[in-house]
Amino acid sequence: MRIILLGAPGVGKGTQAKNLAEQLGILHICSGDLLRQAVKQGSEIGKKAKDFMDKGELVPDELVSQLILKTVGQPGARNGFVLDGYPRNIHQAVELDKTLASRNQEIDTAICLEANQEVIIQRLTGRRLCSKCQANFHIKNIPPKKEGICDHCQGQLYQRADDNEETIKNRLKVYQQETSSLIDYYQKKNKLLQIIANEEAGVVLNKILKEIK
Ligand code: AMP
Repeated sequence: MRIILLGAPGVGKGTQAKNLAEQLGILHICSGDLLRQAVKQGSEIGKKAKDFMDKGELVPDELVSQLILKTVGQPGARNGFVLDGYPRNIHQAVELDKTLASRNQEIDTAICLEANQEVIIQRLTGRRLCSKCQANFHIKNIPPKKEGICDHCQGQLYQRADDNEETIKNRLKVYQQETSSLIDYYQKKNKLLQIIANEEAGVVLNKILKEIK
């Protein structure tokens, strides 16, 4: 199964994509993680992407597409994938469709998660990540057993540089301007599934699984 997860920053795409991929036994591909990794490694793509990411702007299409379309074609993605954070605009969606079509493949479903603005800001400002295994925590909703330490690998938790209020506002604006048009794109192809994602993660995951089965 080939699934795209759409939705504003903070709506819970990362958590749902990871859990969904685990449940379905398919690959989780996260464009933000791949870009953050490239920045950390100081690769050419990472160096070019950093400034855009710090401001909450979209990284130019050709840089992101290089990373993602390569991953989509890997043997690990043969059984399918959940794409999280890509595509972010129509150009990327068309590129993805073309790459899949060249292998006689296509997207099965684009799931759009929706939550209200207060839930989104609260989720993003409280989000903490593990510096070692990238596990997701939240200071209120999913607190670690020991403050600042990952439950799974004892790594240090950190707050993403772009999870501050000013950058969050810009990321939400960019989403409205660039990414929300994808809802229409997948609706026209009859592939859109809209899911209200205000509830906690387990409830939302069950809703998604029920709808796609
Ligand atoms: P995310 O982890 O999805 O919130 O992404 C973090 C940042 O990475 C975004 O604010 C963008 O700067 C960049 N980014 C992630 N995915 C894409 C994409 N598909 N196209 C352009 N920029 C992206």
